[in-house]
Amino acid sequence: MSVLVYVENADGQFKKSTFEVVSYAAALAKTLNTSLAAISIGNVADVALSELGKYGATKILNVTSDKLKTFVNQAYASVIAEAAAKESADIVVLSNSFSGKGLAPRIAVKLQAGLISGAVALPEVSDGKFIVKRTAFSGKAFAFTEITSAKKVIALNPNSYKVEETGATAAVENFESSVKDSDFKSVIKEIVRATDKISLPDAELVVSAGRGLKGPENWKMIEDLADALGAATACSKPVSDAGWRPHEEHVGQTGIAISPNLYIAVGISGAIQHLAGVSSSKTIVVINKDPEAPFFKVADYGIVGDAFDIVPKLTEAVKAY
Ligand code: FAD
Repeated sequence: MSVLVYVENADGQFKKSTFEVVSYAAALAKTLNTSLAAISIGNVADVALSELGKYGATKILNVTSDKLKTFVNQAYASVIAEAAAKESADIVVLSNSFSGKGLAPRIAVKLQAGLISGAVALPEVSDGKFIVKRTAFSGKAFAFTEITSAKKVIALNPNSYKVEETGATAAVENFESSVKDSDFKSVIKEIVRATDKISLPDAELVVSAGRGLKGPENWKMIEDLADALGAATACSKPVSDAGWRPHEEHVGQTGIAISPNLYIAVGISGAIQHLAGVSSSKTIVVINKDPEAPFFKVADYGIVGDAFDIVPKLTEAVKAY
């Protein structure tokens, strides 16, 4: 048995979630007393690939085919499953990122493997059982799920496992995959970035605001605070429904689920559907003028007061720090 980890890149660069997933896979391989290989698809420089050794990967399979330069779910899943077969890997680990969510079930089908998505901790392995803690019900609960199949796919939630430097450099080898034309039924021709801002799903710090801000013209103070902190911005559903903010910023049950180290909620009531997407944030700070706002019940720190008064002062304090 060995472990294979898929190392996702964005425009040739690895994100923090990639280092988390390699650290997680390395710790898992250590627990199982087995080896860890990684598979990279796309144009990542050899030097960046071999640096993954720092996080515990000893071998990197590098796929550089022109056909696979842009992400194609079906084709990438085929390549990763092929690499798993080559490495005799019984466990495939990847990030539960936007693309990981599409890849993980496809890889699981190809390998006839049990799948855990949204994993937040290393598996408990004892008495032949393999049990993984994962989020459930849109982040409102945790489930401890046993995988009983020999082959396993684990998709790890971003920001749920710490990056650990345990190794040295890794050996990089080219991997020629045999993807078929049928793996390219839909192909992304071009990805145009809508914004240069910090990507919300990967952000460690998030400043989020709700209907308490009264209108889109008041978002400058939220952006100023986010810029001062180096944070991404987010919003509640009614705010994006009203067109005050873009839909990709909407967090919650029907938006995206995030788990940053710090979530600052400004003028958001804390409805259960909103909390479903943010309650696994490590530290929650709530700013609301209503002391009875439900968000205060889950806050680590709370400020009762007018956002229009508090947020600019907070921004100044952060800048002065
Ligand atoms: P409000 O509920 O209007 O709250 C505004 C808050 O701002 C209040 O607490 C108020 O005290 C405070 N405030 C007002 N003025 C100030 C001020 N000057 N300074 C400081 N505080 C101030 N919602 C989501 O966010 N995400 C989801 O994914 C989502 N999915 C849903 C799915 C379903 C099926 C349903 C039914 C609802 C969903 N909702 C979702 C909506 C959710 O129930 C709430 O209606 C919504 O989260 C409320 O948004 P809000 O807190 O911005 O607005």
